[in-house]
Amino acid sequence: MRIILNSNATAHDVAVVIGMARDVAGSREKVRVDHLDGRVVVNVLPNGQPFDPTEFNRLDSVETVDESETVYMLAGSTGIDPDTGYPRKVPVEIPSIDVSVGGHQFIVMAGPCAVENEDDLMFTARIAKESGAKLLRGGAFKPRTSPYSFQGLGDDGLKILSRVRAEIGIGVITEAMEPGAVGKVGEVSDVIQIGSRNMQNFPLLLEVGRQSKPVLLKRGMSATLDEWLGAAEYILNEGNPNVILCERGIRTFSRHSRHTLDIGVIPAIRERSGLPVIVDPSHSTGSSSRVPAMSKAAIAAGADGLLIEIHPQPDRALSDSFQTLSHEEFNNLMFEMKSIAKALGRGI
Ligand code: PEP
Ligand code: MN
Repeated sequence: MRIILNSNATAHDVAVVIGMARDVAGSREKVRVDHLDGRVVVNVLPNGQPFDPTEFNRLDSVETVDESETVYMLAGSTGIDPDTGYPRKVPVEIPSIDVSVGGHQFIVMAGPCAVENEDDLMFTARIAKESGAKLLRGGAFKPRTSPYSFQGLGDDGLKILSRVRAEIGIGVITEAMEPGAVGKVGEVSDVIQIGSRNMQNFPLLLEVGRQSKPVLLKRGMSATLDEWLGAAEYILNEGNPNVILCERGIRTFSRHSRHTLDIGVIPAIRERSGLPVIVDPSHSTGSSSRVPAMSKAAIAAGADGLLIEIHPQPDRALSDSFQTLSHEEFNNLMFEMKSIAKALGRGI
């Protein structure tokens, strides 16, 4: 349940509502204060008892009581940042590579759509690292639309990732598609990726929530922000606080690109949640020519990093070749991104 106060509610009004909410919830921990469009929102976790909103609705300071809305208490407020009036951003630390996502540094993750062979991955990892990427991406397990498409190298792909990680000294992010694979994916990676198609695979969310490796949660291609934060909440609620969101484009009526990159969701997340968010300009546009423009839009809009597909020979990539940058194109983009980051007071 969410109790949304009027925009002119006083500090006293807020304190009264919080006190009543704690009585209803039965504990302080089940009540969290959030901000939405300049109004205070009091979130109350269900306690198994039927809830009567009348006593809240009776207050002049209460605009509305929303019983249906997804409650995301953990993905939501982390305390209010006095400078912005919005939830304080809490960086996700990746201790295995000494990287922090959501802080001053803009974090780039780059690599092929899928792990294809060791030589190519080694080459790509070296280029990615030299250009300033902190993590190498590449799927060993691929969620493909058609069962006849390349499905990834599976366990062999994980072994390649592990060897490349050790040889080059770069972090690794790769996808787990099922709960049973979380353990072995976590062993070779620094961040576990949950793909768009699995954003609401609840057993998978619970499993990554029960371990401590950071999780990159991609937005479902038709998920609202509330559904996305609700999915993050599953992971956080199991005890893993290390969730990074990834906007990767949504389905709209537009046909000019593979998906529609929802840049506007970045400031909307900032208003509701302290979780870091990065952008995938590759899957969202489906076209390598548009990746640079969308990468720059992402950093300007306040994203914390990028997830980009690159390959030594994009036209020979076994999956997603149209949207994949060559190493040279990636180097050029990184050169530009560094000066934009600097102008914005950030580093890469
Ligand atoms: C990926 O990044 O490897 C991927 C499959 O993307 P998405 O889940 O966003 O489609
Ligand atoms: Mn891909």
